[in-house]
Amino acid sequence: MTSLDDFARRKLVALESESLRRSLHESVSVSGQRLERSGSGFVNFCSNDYLGLAQDPRLKAAAVAAVERYGAGGGASRLVTGNHPLYGELEHKIAALKGTEAALVFGSGYLANLGAIPALAGEGDFILADELSHACMISGARLSGALVETFRHNDAEHLRTLLLRHRGGARNCLILTEGVFSMDGDVSPLPDIVALGRDFDAWVMTDDAHGLGVIGEGRGSATHWGVSPDIQMGTLSKAVGCYGGYIAASRSVVDLLVNRARSLIYATALPPAVVGAAIAGIDIIAHDKALCAKPVANARAFAAALNLAQPQSSIVPLILGGAAAALAASNLLAEKGLMVSAIRPPTVPDGTARLRITFAADHSSNDVMRLADAVRVDVLPLMRDHSR
Ligand SMILES: *Cc1c(COP(=O)(O)O)cnc(C)c1O
Repeated sequence: MTSLDDFARRKLVALESESLRRSLHESVSVSGQRLERSGSGFVNFCSNDYLGLAQDPRLKAAAVAAVERYGAGGGASRLVTGNHPLYGELEHKIAALKGTEAALVFGSGYLANLGAIPALAGEGDFILADELSHACMISGARLSGALVETFRHNDAEHLRTLLLRHRGGARNCLILTEGVFSMDGDVSPLPDIVALGRDFDAWVMTDDAHGLGVIGEGRGSATHWGVSPDIQMGTLSKAVGCYGGYIAASRSVVDLLVNRARSLIYATALPPAVVGAAIAGIDIIAHDKALCAKPVANARAFAAALNLAQPQSSIVPLILGGAAAALAASNLLAEKGLMVSAIRPPTVPDGTARLRITFAADHSSNDVMRLADAVRVDVLPLMRDHSR
């Protein structure tokens, strides 16, 4: 055994002993929110395909048409020869949906945050991020070289205190938060945060990976609140049913990112099929408000059945505490054909391992009530154990 293998095995044993080891399971998406794993069928309650568009015939047809017309691969960076005509169409439609001057599509949401944040902030600047911000915002912030501080989750007063303390000493200041928090499903107080940005001349950037297609009539958190953050990041990989990420902002910000965002400049363009399918997904979100209302309606029906607080998004967390308890709860639901994966640290803070349930437009009310019944019997008792 090489020292490298030895290193890897020791790390894995340590993870295993804390119920924190992760592994990949082959999952076959059969249709909508139905999936097969190891020969068994499940209703999927942990996908981010909130509108069921990943299996939509319109997206599949658009992908096939794009392959036929433009080929299988992007071939080069967008800055070289990879910028096939579908990109312009997609960016135009994203900007229209978001109500911004312009939009820029990246290889993924992760790459959008990783590229955009260091293009806008660097040494001498100050980044303030909500403490529950997604890993890729934090990665982008660290990569930027700016001074990074976190403010307490959704606490605008704490944000103000930190701005009072640090804003004067920094050249530029960037505030990072999520529109809908990915692991908690709550929404950030954007009117307060945008007002602080204005008062302190700090730029506000939202990650709306879980807002687009779900709140604000599908247009996301900015429309939900009626505010205009300076930079709105989002993904094409969740409600849009496809893959890729975007930044929606002013024309000058987008033009600067084209020149400065390393994850755009030094990575190959997305395959045409992906961009073509994303156009079809954005079109559906722009025109089908009734579809976009369904995930939250399903989440609310589930919560009402169990007397839980009314969700603000399509995400409902059930906090179990320990990683082993979260895994046990997930396994109990799996025995009933309900797939809800356990979310453990470091994805969530220590001691807050959970089931993260996501509701989609194509869950039937029967699916939702089956889950509510199973959670009542199998999961709520474990949560009471935790809270004692
Ligand atoms: C999923 C997610 C991302 C990353 O988007 P991808 O397109 O999957 O790379 C970024 N931010 C948040 C909050 C997310 O949940």
